[in-house]
Amino acid sequence: MFGALKSAPRADNDYSACSGCSLCLLVCPVWRTTHDLRLTPHGRAKALQHGASIVDIAASVESCTLCSACEPVCPENIDLVGMILKLRRQLPRSAALHDVQTRVNTAAVRPPVARTDTRSVLLPDKGLRAQSKALAQVHALLACPSAEDDGADIALSLETGVYVPDQRIEQFLAPLRGVKHIIVADGLLLRHLKSWLPKSKISSLGVALIALPAVRCGLRATDLYVIEPRAYHSDQKRLVALYDQLRFDTGCTMNLDLLRIAIPAAARGLHDCVKPRPIVDIEQALWVVQGRKFSRVVAESVDDMAALSLATDKPVVHVSELNSA
Ligand code: SF4
Ligand code: SF4
Repeated sequence: MFGALKSAPRADNDYSACSGCSLCLLVCPVWRTTHDLRLTPHGRAKALQHGASIVDIAASVESCTLCSACEPVCPENIDLVGMILKLRRQLPRSAALHDVQTRVNTAAVRPPVARTDTRSVLLPDKGLRAQSKALAQVHALLACPSAEDDGADIALSLETGVYVPDQRIEQFLAPLRGVKHIIVADGLLLRHLKSWLPKSKISSLGVALIALPAVRCGLRATDLYVIEPRAYHSDQKRLVALYDQLRFDTGCTMNLDLLRIAIPAAARGLHDCVKPRPIVDIEQALWVVQGRKFSRVVAESVDDMAALSLATDKPVVHVSELNSA
């Protein structure tokens, strides 16, 4: 069970290696909003080291937004996101999780899609799928279609920890094996695809779009460019150079802190993803915009745009709009 859901660990260690240094607190949005140590990697690690059960730490496991910001700063090289995903699969099944399981089960029963030979293909996320104008712009800019099987059910199962059969994951991956470039909007799905399809070229939506001269030229020195944190932190050592170059070329500011961690614009725990609800907490988005001078916000993630729009009266646009801005 869950064999294929595992991705290759990004780091070597588990929670038993935690030294309690608290560096993860510096970047964790849950710590910032709650100041509750129990809801942090440090708190979970210490609880488990002292024999806590999954029921004891359920609220902590549910609170994590999976922004992945803690992973690059952990000096003990702990697979902090992988640990959360593993613990989510062990959570007691609530009624809400049962509903998600039903949705995933229903989506899993689908006819297989033929192997595609297109050069590149897009896997949109939930937010992009819901914004037909932005999705059409992305298709036009990247000159590639969305995949017939976009793996939405698998992305949902990764985030929530509900069961998806290995055969379903193999069914999803089979047509992608013929694609030269896979562009993925969901940072968590991208993280897994990189280990499931190690020979494929896989890029985040933001990285694919800003590589286009037409998009890059639309970025102004007075823009605040908001990086989608999950994809960025899954490959932070490499991507920090790419984004620094973008900053150097355009003069824009970014949602990077002194540790070169991307500050998440929205903090959504498990409850927000099993039962989507209106944005009630804009603390994170305020953290991104406060103290920065800008005339426009450019966001990689459609999901982040709503929170950012509440935190500033300046225009908030999707990166795909730069071409026509
Ligand atoms: S993934 Fe994000 S929310 Fe979760 S513990 Fe790490 S920094 Fe905090
Ligand atoms: S940064 Fe790593 S070692 Fe330090 S407290 Fe957090 S999880 Fe533990």
